[in-house]
Amino acid sequence: MSMKKCTSCGTYTLKAECPACGKIAASPHPARYSPNDKYGEYRRRMKKENI
Ligand SMILES: [Zn+2]
Repeated sequence: MSMKKCTSCGTYTLKAECPACGKIAASPHPARYSPNDKYGEYRRRMKKENI
């Protein structure tokens, strides 16, 4: 169970739809903030090799 945020009005809800306007509610945290960021490790390695 995770909080979702309306893509239209910004209302937080636990449901897939916004209770205020009925638009789609999605996770406010994009996948790029995942601690298992394989591409983040890849970018750090590339940056290190470029020095
Ligand atoms: Zn809404």
